[in-house]
Amino acid sequence: ADLRGSPAQEEPMKKEIVHISSPDRLVYPELGVSKQDVADYYERVMDWLLPGLIGRPLAVLRCPDGTQNACFFQKHHTAGMDVSTVNLQEEQGGRQNYLMVRDKTDVMQLVQFNALEFHPWGAQADSPDHCDRLVFDLDPSAEVPWNKVKQAARQVRDLLAQLQLQSFVRTTGGKGLHVVAPLNPPAPWDDARQFARAFAESLAGAHPDTYIATASKKRRKGLIFVDYLRNGRGATSVCSYSLRARPGAAVATPLRWEELGRVKSSDAFTIRNVLQRLARLADDPWQALTRIRQSLPDLAE
Ligand code: ATP
Ligand code: MN
Ligand code: MN
Repeated sequence: ADLRGSPAQEEPMKKEIVHISSPDRLVYPELGVSKQDVADYYERVMDWLLPGLIGRPLAVLRCPDGTQNACFFQKHHTAGMDVSTVNLQEEQGGRQNYLMVRDKTDVMQLVQFNALEFHPWGAQADSPDHCDRLVFDLDPSAEVPWNKVKQAARQVRDLLAQLQLQSFVRTTGGKGLHVVAPLNPPAPWDDARQFARAFAESLAGAHPDTYIATASKKRRKGLIFVDYLRNGRGATSVCSYSLRARPGAAVATPLRWEELGRVKSSDAFTIRNVLQRLARLADDPWQALTRIRQSLPDLAE
């Protein structure tokens, strides 16, 4: 494979144990959740988090002054960060060192740099031009009841199944749901984007009272925006088990489809309760995802 900025090249010896500075600083003041609590959360959830994160170019949302203050997305490596990188061509511009997680130390280093949210590409760093995860990002406007969002996710699942694509659902920790279909073999980004767009437009065309496939905020009232724009080179989606930098410290949480009916909201799972959920699970609800072999359907379908 063309490893671009190949693995070990720019990696000095990393410290195994990451020092967390300002551990008592409040990250979620309304909950009394400190930076150390965030670090403890990521330590505990690590084995669940890593499979969706390792080896993918990454953007992180950093909140140096907690979630009540300004946060910012960062995708490129910056000086002083003892974190793995991959050197990639930007969509527009030159080559850049993108952040990437190779192991738990990278996660904890990013947490030390006040990363709260982890947003990987739908592509592996060693194959950045091919999509291996289609994401149908369902974005309901404020008026849409939660039951309708869940119904929409099931409809997306069923339509994908008709195209021979098995899919998985997660809460985002925000307002909507993500329906994710693995692609193995992966597909060129142009094809993935065209497919996702055609899928979204056909859904909105068939059910204009429920869905909209254009990003215009004005016309979205009462509708669910099927945000197919996640499916492009350089686009990201929140990682399963990532915290969200929103009040309540919600966690993006993968579900079994059978569980969806019982889930009360997209932000139902939080730093406070998701570990109890995981303790009761035998394996990850998305366990099967990596074993599935399915290709991008022909656009004509
Ligand atoms: P919700 O369910 O509330 O929509 P979400 O995580 O799906 O939560 P979106 O606003 O729909 O939030 O964004 C979808 C994805 O797009 C995010 O998970 C993130 O990876 C990416 N994204 C959104 N805004 C930005 C941004 N400003 N910079 C970089 N990536 C972004
Ligand atoms: Mn969304
Ligand atoms: Mn969106």
